[in-house]
Amino acid sequence: MKVGILGGGQLGRMLLQAAANYIVETFVLENDENCPAAHLCNHFIKGDIKDFDAVYNFGKQVDALTIEIEAVNIDALEKLENEGIKIYPKPAALKIIKNKITQKDFYKANEIPTPAYLVTNDLSELKNNKSFLPAVHKIGEGGYDGKGVQIIKNETDLDKGFNTSSVLEKMVDIKKEISIIVAMNDKNETEIYPPSEMIFDPVLNLLDYQISPAELPQRVLWKAEAIALKVVKDLKSAGLFAIEMFVDKNDDMFVNETAPRVHNSGHHTIEANYCSQYDMLWRIILNYPLGNTDPILPSSIVNLLGADGYSGEAKYEGLDEVLQMENVFVHLYGKKQTRPGRKMGHVTIINKDRTDLTYKAHKIKNILKVIS
Ligand code: ADP
Repeated sequence: MKVGILGGGQLGRMLLQAAANYIVETFVLENDENCPAAHLCNHFIKGDIKDFDAVYNFGKQVDALTIEIEAVNIDALEKLENEGIKIYPKPAALKIIKNKITQKDFYKANEIPTPAYLVTNDLSELKNNKSFLPAVHKIGEGGYDGKGVQIIKNETDLDKGFNTSSVLEKMVDIKKEISIIVAMNDKNETEIYPPSEMIFDPVLNLLDYQISPAELPQRVLWKAEAIALKVVKDLKSAGLFAIEMFVDKNDDMFVNETAPRVHNSGHHTIEANYCSQYDMLWRIILNYPLGNTDPILPSSIVNLLGADGYSGEAKYEGLDEVLQMENVFVHLYGKKQTRPGRKMGHVTIINKDRTDLTYKAHKIKNILKVIS
């Protein structure tokens, strides 16, 4: 089978690592020929994943397509789907998710719990909704990694908002942020990964470190799983999905957003679960049985971000020391250039002892630095 991936970042790279276990000819479309996935695929095609012709011509050579980023040309995917190319996720699901406004409308229409929201089309509309504060303003399309998200606590923050179509969402008093990965195949069979729990960097707004499985009361876990499953069933698409949720102080749950692809919150599944999220997506695309999502051991993930104050050719400080630690797995994404906050790699720690997971996560964050 010939399978194409739109985008050549680290998610594509790890997807290709898993592809090596199967009989599949892989294609990557990406503008940057030095991207993390470029040298791991069978065929690299340089091109813009947002461009209709580039995506259409790329898709015509393969049997199936998947994405590693949402910012792709959906019109081309719809045409390819009509011409018989299998696409994971379906373009219709991608269309709903790609824009935060249509995504929120989808949750509302399907009675999936999500923070209350309204749509603002410019700054003046935002300013007319002071009574809705404290809230979080999110740009409809094009935001990623916390860019395109502004916390508007009170009137003095209103100028930080976006002067374009956006969602204004009620602020949730978050106790825990969790992510659940759900796999669905073409027969509508599903498998759910145990939830991961995120701990965020308040300054960079990027995932800081993560523990999995999240510690949740059984009742909360069941509810979270039911919500995550419902999101995927209602999207009516085979593929792999990460559903990010907030659990508030009353243990009420709200879907924050869904990613229709392999996800940062599932990196640990490579070492910590019987079937990784990457292996799982290949099983879906290649029409094999779904894999076992059970954890082998609890795990934590530390994201390796470019250190503040360094831009240029990447150097990894403290790597030897981390590589000598027990039950620690280093993943470097092969990006030549670092800049502050850029995702350069991650480290997974596995251990049955959860205090060790937290201890090592903090230790690694202090030792391992990406400088230039
Ligand atoms: P992105 O798509 O860029 O990752 P998110 O929508 O996930 O942006 O928001 C980034 C972070 O902002 C979340 O992980 C959460 O910590 C915070 N956040 C987002 N929405 C809310 C909300 N309604 N209430 C409280 N915090 C929020």
